[in-house]
Amino acid sequence: MLGQSLSPELVYEALRQGRGESLNVPGGKLMLVLNAQGAGPEWVANVHQWVLRAVTAVSAYFGRFPVDRAGLLIRAVPGSGVRGGVSYGFDSSAVKVDVGIESQPSDLRDDWVLTHEFVHLGFPSLRRQHVWIEEGSATYVEPIARVQAGQLSATRMWQDVFADLPKGLPAPGDNGLDNTHTWARTYWGGALFCLLADVELRRETEGRHGLQTALRAIRDNSRGNVAFWTIEQTLAIGDGATGRPVLMNLYRKMAPTAMDVDLAGLMAQLGVHGAPGKAVELDDSAPLASVRRAITSVR
Ligand SMILES: [Zn+2]
Repeated sequence: MLGQSLSPELVYEALRQGRGESLNVPGGKLMLVLNAQGAGPEWVANVHQWVLRAVTAVSAYFGRFPVDRAGLLIRAVPGSGVRGGVSYGFDSSAVKVDVGIESQPSDLRDDWVLTHEFVHLGFPSLRRQHVWIEEGSATYVEPIARVQAGQLSATRMWQDVFADLPKGLPAPGDNGLDNTHTWARTYWGGALFCLLADVELRRETEGRHGLQTALRAIRDNSRGNVAFWTIEQTLAIGDGATGRPVLMNLYRKMAPTAMDVDLAGLMAQLGVHGAPGKAVELDDSAPLASVRRAITSVR
C-alpha cells in the first residue's frame, strides 16, 4: 500500500530510536517498536496478538518469516481499525502501520493489512512499472496465507476473490499491466496474473507445484525486498523452481497489452459458484476443484 504522512526516513529513524522489543519469528527476528502514547495495556496486548497472527500467516506461506531481520513500527492513532500500512526495503526491511487506539480485538482479528505488508517483504523490489506484480502478489497471497494458517475459511477467501478479482480485468482503453497503472489494474490485475499462473502451474504439474513454489524460490534467492531485481530475473527464478516457463509466458501476454480473460468461466471450472450479493458455494465436482483445493492446502 502507499504510505501516508510519514516519510521512509522518519520510519527508519523511529525504528532506530524507539525502544523496541526483539521478537523471535520463524527464521529471523522482528524488531517491534510501538509508538503508543495514550494507549492502555489492553491495546498493547491486542496489538501483540495481531502481530503474531500475521507472522504466523506469512510464515505458513513462505515456510518461514520472509526476511532474516525486519523492523515493524506501529503507531497508535485516533479511532479504530488498521490503516496506513506500508513496507520498505531500503537499508533494511521495514513495515509501518497505524492502529486506532479504540480498536477492539475483533477489529484486529479480521485484519489483512499487516499480513499483506509482510508478504511484500518476501518479494524483491522491482522497477516502478512492474509495481503490479509486487502489489498483485501481496494481494493474492495474503488471504491464502491466512487460510493456510487456519485464520480464514477457504469459502470466505473465494467469496472475496469472486467479488474483487473482476476489478482486475482490463477496462476499455486499458493497456497491459506494465503500462496501465490504475489502482484496479495494479492490485487486482496483478492478483489476476497470480491466479492464472497458479492454476496453470498446478494443472501442468498435476498439483506438484503452484505459485507458492515459485514465490518461495524467489524469496530464497533474493532474500526479500532489500534486493533490487529485474522482473526477468525474478520470473526466471520462479520458473526455474517449477520447471515450467509459466510466469514468463504469462508476463509476455499480460504485460504489454490488455489480455482478455474469461474469469467467470475460470471460476466455474474451479467450482466457485456465486452471484452478486450471495454467498459463494464451493463445488467439489467441478473440473478444477482439485486445483482450487490445492491452492489453499498446507504445504
Ligand atoms: Zn501492498
